[in-house]
Amino acid sequence: AIAGEIQASDVDTLKVHMPLCMEHLHDELRREKHTRHGGRMQYGLFLKGIGLSLEQALLFWQMALEKKTPEEFNKNYAYNVRHSYGMEGKRTDYTPYSCKSIIMNNAPGPGDHHGCPFRHFSAPNLRAQLTAHQVDEFDTEDIIHKVQQRHYQIACTRYYEVTRAKMVGISPENVKGGLSDTATGSLIASQEVIEHPNQFFEQSYLLMKS
Ligand code: SF4
Repeated sequence: AIAGEIQASDVDTLKVHMPLCMEHLHDELRREKHTRHGGRMQYGLFLKGIGLSLEQALLFWQMALEKKTPEEFNKNYAYNVRHSYGMEGKRTDYTPYSCKSIIMNNAPGPGDHHGCPFRHFSAPNLRAQLTAHQVDEFDTEDIIHKVQQRHYQIACTRYYEVTRAKMVGISPENVKGGLSDTATGSLIASQEVIEHPNQFFEQSYLLMKS
């Protein structure tokens, strides 16, 4: 993992590098102290991908689901966490979901927080999210337009560019260029479009460090 092994207590700080889908899951988890199975899978595997070990993942989820007693947690949740790390059942070592998979499969129902905001949020809700992230009116319209054309990942890429540009204080056009100038590896430089939430995270993490 790009950030090395991370601790359960690092996750809140690392939120700044997360794409909207994962930030939303994180915020709702903190707010409700609960996430349904679909959300725990999507977010849990993402966290595994950024470097949360099984031990730290168990700690993270036990603390996050603070309304559960340790007994309830062990009975109803710990197995699933171990399972997604390949330590139970068929011992499949599950990988984090790609954008395509999140966009195409298992659409969220009422009360669910998994999915892709560009695909699954209503237009007013997506606009509100963009405003909350200081995306200006021009870029918001651009992103909404891409969503209307069903180019969800391109919309996410644009979101990445405008928000990261603001964070590092350069113009959005230079975010990609800036990346290819850094010695951060071919995966980052060659990607044109966000294909994976973990790619979004890693690009952002490396950009801030460079
Ligand atoms: Fe997440 Fe991918 Fe949707 Fe971006 S395009 S919000 S990374 S699922």
